[in-house]
Amino acid sequence: MADSPKKEEMLALSVDNRDLTVRLTEHARARRLSLRVDPINGCVVLVKPRRASKKAAIAFAEDKADWIADRLAELVLPVPFADGTEVPIHGELHTIRHCPEARRGVWRENNHLNISGAADHLSRRIHDWFRDEARHVIIPIAHSYAETLGRTVTNISIRDTRSRWGSCSADGRLSFSWRLIMTPTEVTHYVIAHEVSHLCEFNHSARFWSTVDQLIDDRREQTQWLKEHGGDLHRYGLNEWKNNPSGLRSQSGALRGIQSTPQSGATQEPSDPVS
Ligand SMILES: [Zn+2]
Repeated sequence: MADSPKKEEMLALSVDNRDLTVRLTEHARARRLSLRVDPINGCVVLVKPRRASKKAAIAFAEDKADWIADRLAELVLPVPFADGTEVPIHGELHTIRHCPEARRGVWRENNHLNISGAADHLSRRIHDWFRDEARHVIIPIAHSYAETLGRTVTNISIRDTRSRWGSCSADGRLSFSWRLIMTPTEVTHYVIAHEVSHLCEFNHSARFWSTVDQLIDDRREQTQWLKEHGGDLHRYGLNEWKNNPSGLRSQSGALRGIQSTPQSGATQEPSDPVS
């Protein structure tokens, strides 16, 4: 959980001949200066304790120019939702096709995702479509798995959670990332089965895993898929980053369980991560 930042300020820094936008935040509970690069949006975040001066914080960031450059180089390229770009839907690449004169909203057709209407609304409409698709696919499966296990789901919400593909609360509320719709169907099913199984076992014990195995086959294959490709899915629908350097390479990111954010060792020295 994040502390609530006391103060926040955007700084334009020239670090190692590169123009960077750095978000400086002051945290009452921070004990030292720290830096991190948000693996999803490429934002450089500089945290300072209240007693440290802004000047010291800037000097600290400048001193870590190489570290920042390395972290930025590890990031994946964002893929904005735009005409002609490819996005995975149920594990298969679809090309986004803007059809301004059509009046059909958003529809899938032969590996195309067609969107009518004005270009300005294209990205938002695609986001909405993914959420709707996620709702239509995930909710019935979750209810049917719960029924198989003799449990009841209190509520299901579809979100753009960065840190998890799904979650289950102690009172039976489930939450899923709409980005699951980008994964192959078996992977989506695994994540749903995983969360629904928490309605029986609120832990990751052997009993929990055998419950998951009652619902689906080959869960190891699906967890492996998420480890290898899951982090990559977060770049879809993002707009360009300010700090985005050229020559970025793809990276898989280390993932545990069904956490969905690549775990980058973000802070330096004795770390005091703030997010
Ligand atoms: Zn779990």
